[in-house]
Amino acid sequence: MENSILAIVVPCFNEEESLPKSNERLLGLLDSMILERQVSNESYILYVDDGSRDRTWQLIAGYCQTDAHVRGLKLAGNVGHQNALMAGLETAREDSDMTISIDADLQDDIHSIPEMVKKYDDGCDIVYGVRRKRTTDTFFKRTTAQMFYKFMSGMGVKSVYNHADFRLMSRRAVNALCQYEERNLFLRGLVPLLGYKTDSVYYDRLERESGESKYPLSKMLSFAIDGVTSFSVKPLRLIFDLGLIFLLISLIILVYVIVALCRGNGVQGWASLMLSIWFVGGCVLICLSIIAAYIGRIYTEGKHRPRYNIEKYMK
Ligand code: UDP
Ligand code: MG
Repeated sequence: MENSILAIVVPCFNEEESLPKSNERLLGLLDSMILERQVSNESYILYVDDGSRDRTWQLIAGYCQTDAHVRGLKLAGNVGHQNALMAGLETAREDSDMTISIDADLQDDIHSIPEMVKKYDDGCDIVYGVRRKRTTDTFFKRTTAQMFYKFMSGMGVKSVYNHADFRLMSRRAVNALCQYEERNLFLRGLVPLLGYKTDSVYYDRLERESGESKYPLSKMLSFAIDGVTSFSVKPLRLIFDLGLIFLLISLIILVYVIVALCRGNGVQGWASLMLSIWFVGGCVLICLSIIAAYIGRIYTEGKHRPRYNIEKYMK
């Protein structure tokens, strides 16, 4: 059997600090896999520069020139992790049998890669890298990440627990993924929908060695909202539930008022009146904003703008 061509897709945004080390480690691994004939000699690493403002692209271009196993894709501007990853996958599927996506900081253990390839050889189309434990993450990162997964599953979005974007996909899985044309990309939610044969490999998550996380809390929050609104309409149904609860409360108040009137003592209470007006007003606004979030998605999806523009592809 011919060995399969592996493309390792690495999105990079301002990664000049971690790239040199990551490149060295990834190349070392790829070389040894080629030597052991686990993958074809045509396998390569594809760095996707997501509109970095530092020397990331210069570094990538340098690696492309010195090593035949490195390629670089320069996007015309910053489009975000998910879109950059998609750009890499769409480009790599042209000449690879399988792709593995991994973050530039190599927090995900690259030693799981041979195991992933083995599962591909055994007939899996999708192999998830799943974190066994998160002891090396800061307390804050760990708890927010855990809340993220809980929130998502509470909202009815199916995703693999403790799996980020470290995964192997066969060419036909990537082809299938490319047919999902949505602009609000949430790959972790999309990939399980493909339905192909899947498996997982487990590893311990390492610390980010250099540079800082490009996912501060605010980005993580908007990522969660993106995820929920593009996979689930549960929040819209929750609005209905909330409406029912309010109706019930108002009925109880009505009964209370009628009973009080029948007994001959009128109901007083400026303060409670004001309170309920503000309370209900606030709830209505929140509900409106939930609906607006969906309308916003319809708006961006409806325009069918391209996800990214390619400036340069270096082989
Ligand atoms: N990234 C990107 N575009 C962005 C933000 C991040 O391509 O706008 C890349 C980044 O270079 C890294 C990966 O996405 O390779 C994940 O980012 P990071 O490690 O900062 O996230 P974390 O591990 O903290 O969740
Ligand atoms: Mg990281």
